[in-house]
Amino acid sequence: MRFDQYKFLDVIKDNLATLKFIRPTDIQFKAIPPIINGEDVLAIAQTGTGKTAAFAIPVIDYVARQVADTKKHHIRCLVMEPTRELSIQITEVFNQIGKGTGIRVLNVYGGVEQDAQIQALRSGTDILITTPGRMFDLIHQGFISLERLEILVVDEADHMLDLGFLKDIKDVLRHIPRNRQTLFFSATINDSIKKLAYSIVRNAIRIQISPENPVNKNIVHQVAFIEMDDKRFFLERLVNEHEGSRILVFVRTQVRAERVFKALERAGITSETIHGGKEQSDRLKVLEAFRNGDTKILIATDVSARGIDIQGVEYVVNYDLPEQPENYVHRVGRTGRGGKKGYAVAFCSKEEKPLLADIEDYIGAKVDLLKIEKDLYNETVSFTADETQNDWKTLLKEAIIEEEKPKKKGKR
Ligand code: ADP
Ligand code: MG
Repeated sequence: MRFDQYKFLDVIKDNLATLKFIRPTDIQFKAIPPIINGEDVLAIAQTGTGKTAAFAIPVIDYVARQVADTKKHHIRCLVMEPTRELSIQITEVFNQIGKGTGIRVLNVYGGVEQDAQIQALRSGTDILITTPGRMFDLIHQGFISLERLEILVVDEADHMLDLGFLKDIKDVLRHIPRNRQTLFFSATINDSIKKLAYSIVRNAIRIQISPENPVNKNIVHQVAFIEMDDKRFFLERLVNEHEGSRILVFVRTQVRAERVFKALERAGITSETIHGGKEQSDRLKVLEAFRNGDTKILIATDVSARGIDIQGVEYVVNYDLPEQPENYVHRVGRTGRGGKKGYAVAFCSKEEKPLLADIEDYIGAKVDLLKIEKDLYNETVSFTADETQNDWKTLLKEAIIEEEKPKKKGKR
């Protein structure tokens, strides 16, 4: 089925065509009809499968018709997002699909002045997209009323729970009508997500698109065994060999992010970092630069990059393996989006092997090995633009090889 065969408003179909959304993705195909019928929906589908449009299209179609009929603007739909970045991204999707329909979409998030948001709320909003904190501030100050809400969307529910928004989601329920439609979207599911979902939906239609391997089939993902201290040389090499590609590098901590940034800088490679230790405005700037191609290499921690949809990320590098195996799926899911091919490589050190085993358990498959021949390994570590490091590195290497030789003989 193609989008032009659906009974959506023509202007919405035109917008979808402009976005080059020709056919619904699996989750869209399954979720859209029950949403149109006004049912509660609990939808689980891998990251990158088009969950945003799965709720945005039918919600916009419904709200646009209501606005056209009543000529009134009040908050009919609330979309809850875990992070400001995501709320901005989802707002963009609503604006693109809802262009020319007459609906008013407002994004409200914290960390910025609230005056403009209040102004927009005063003039009337149909769809509110928000992160919990700022929304509650505005509810308590009397600027947001959810009394006539018809549709509640909880998006990226797994991420919301990870970030500790359980109480906020429950608190929202006290401000909205019982008689409403609830749409609950998540990339992964576990017991606490199920419990939350079933506490807020009623007789929900449950849609789960769960392939055997939760990593999207468009993504080629491999693991290379590289020692901790050598990782930066391999990153440098990868970057140099793929000049002009958009590369997203994941590290475990903020400190590691800054360290990798410095290591690349020493090698003459420009990159940017994004993590929780940065000001919100800086994070947005960095994301925008990565999105528009000014920055080719972005070094990120897990939380700061979850759910972020940037077209054309060619490579994801798991510079450090994630401690939580589901984050592996989220990370590699930043590439290969919207049907494109993606490539991901993990740098796994000796110490990280147990983490790799956890990941393989979680995805139910082995991660393909990217075998690095010894010569290539040594060459990568020795021939680097990072001259200062190079010297001691080479010396140290030679020393180690000297030491190893007799041992190996002894074994055989
Ligand atoms: P999810 O929320 O499931 O992680 P998104 O909603 O962010 O995924 O969508 C992932 C990507 O797929 C986006 O870049 C989006 O533009 C693209 N996409 C969504 N639906 C379609 C479609 N029907 N046809 C083509 N591309 C699509
Ligand atoms: Mg999403």
